[in-house]
Amino acid sequence: MQYQALYQLSRALHQLDEHKILSTAVHQISKMVEASYSCILVFHQDSSIKSLYYTHDSIAWDTLFQHGMAGYVYHSRRMVIIWDIANDPRWCGYTKLPNLPQTGSAIGLPLLRGQNIYGVFVLIHHEIEHFNDERLALLQEAHELITIALNNALDYQVGLTDDMRYLAAFNDAVVPILLTDLQGTIIDLNHQAINLLGFEPNELIGMPISSLHELTDFDLQNIVGERILQTRLKTNNAEIAAMVRVRQLHLHGQDVLEWVEQDITPQMELEQLRRDLTAMVYHDLRGPLQTIHGSIQRLARHLANHEDPSVWNLLQVGLRSTRQLRRMVDSLLDIQRLEEGKAILNRHPTEVRVLLADAVQLVQPLAVEANMRLKFAIQDDLPLVDADVDMIVRVVINLIENAIKYTPAGEIITLGAFHKENQVYIHVKDSGPGIPSEMKQQIFDKFSRVKYHHTPKGIGLGLAFCRLAVQAHGGHIWVESEPGQGSDFIFTLPASLITPQDETADEPTISSKLA
Ligand code: ADP
Repeated sequence: MQYQALYQLSRALHQLDEHKILSTAVHQISKMVEASYSCILVFHQDSSIKSLYYTHDSIAWDTLFQHGMAGYVYHSRRMVIIWDIANDPRWCGYTKLPNLPQTGSAIGLPLLRGQNIYGVFVLIHHEIEHFNDERLALLQEAHELITIALNNALDYQVGLTDDMRYLAAFNDAVVPILLTDLQGTIIDLNHQAINLLGFEPNELIGMPISSLHELTDFDLQNIVGERILQTRLKTNNAEIAAMVRVRQLHLHGQDVLEWVEQDITPQMELEQLRRDLTAMVYHDLRGPLQTIHGSIQRLARHLANHEDPSVWNLLQVGLRSTRQLRRMVDSLLDIQRLEEGKAILNRHPTEVRVLLADAVQLVQPLAVEANMRLKFAIQDDLPLVDADVDMIVRVVINLIENAIKYTPAGEIITLGAFHKENQVYIHVKDSGPGIPSEMKQQIFDKFSRVKYHHTPKGIGLGLAFCRLAVQAHGGHIWVESEPGQGSDFIFTLPASLITPQDETADEPTISSKLA
């Protein structure tokens, strides 16, 4: 019988409407334990009464809260049993009020939401000691059911208000937003998105997001946090450059993806203009630099036998500096070209030893000046590599120049090369300050620099160029280093399919264009 009553109660409470739960609970539980009067008092956060759900309005429930047992339950957050109303001081300070029973028994139960008190359930009977063990057990079970049902309903309401708040923001947003399910089917979009895309809303609902965006390598089911992608967006009459922020949301009880679109055509146009301008500047620098270099070279030939040796030395410094400038300008131009994804056209099967010798010849004077010794660890019989010699020589020079720049004078720098599994490994090892592990990837990004005590001058473009150049050759570049233990910059180049023997037959033509 009791179980049946509890079962019926749990079914009746199986809903998400807070008010229905409370009024159902007060009536059914009152009946279950045969109470004479019952009430659930619900409170605001400031302890004032928010609402009352009762079986009889003839009782002064608010007095019972302000001066009696309901207030006692509220403050103690514990169940209170009053076996005999007439003889229990907790019942009420105003015992003689006509609208409060003077005899009988009562029970008060706290309704909790987490740590906070949400309400108090009071049941009264006109006889003393009415709430015996059996009724108490029943009440405790019922109390648990009502607490769970109530908390579920309140959680649902919080979710609902969040959803409503989100939808208001979604419709008023000044940016275009689309919502899809986790399969990428469009389920909603705001006014801005309709304006941007130029389709009718009903054409878009149900359409896969992939028909608007190219989404290769994009796992819709596993988006953690936020993903930002630069892509093309197909509108009704054009294809535009777009930046999209994608994140997963929980809305109306469903996992959805939010796609915030940004038309970046103006930024792209500006960026292209900036690129074109800088490329033009770099390109135009090359001509005069070439002329200066040629002139100094001719002058050096004329003055080769000048009686004052410092003249020759000065001209050599001039030549070295113009070569360095040319290398910088070429690398800046290459960064632009490689970033645009342009392929390297000038690749030839090249002997690694010759390539390294070219680089060494060009940095040797700098090493001597810095009082550094270059040591070689180059394996014999290395396979050829298909390289743009000029570019890879500049990569090696960059690494050696960095090693010289960041290593204290008087140390040794090792230039090594070996061959493993169809890859040629080239590395430059120094005994400088090393690279902190969190910077090992970043230093290959443009303008990224490590802050040392005395940081030598630089702009952080050298390694960015090295990475782009090596990757364009199908290789990888990385650094192995422990702080304070020096750095070993390593890059790989795939071995050429042409062997040195084939090359000899075809007459070798490897020579440095930098000399
Ligand atoms: P730059 O030397 O002009 O700053 P790079 O791109 O060549 O630019 O190098 C990026 C950063 O990597 C440098 O600023 C420096 O902090 C660090 N770095 C590069 N090579 C070395 C090295 N051999 N030893 C220590 N730090 C280095």
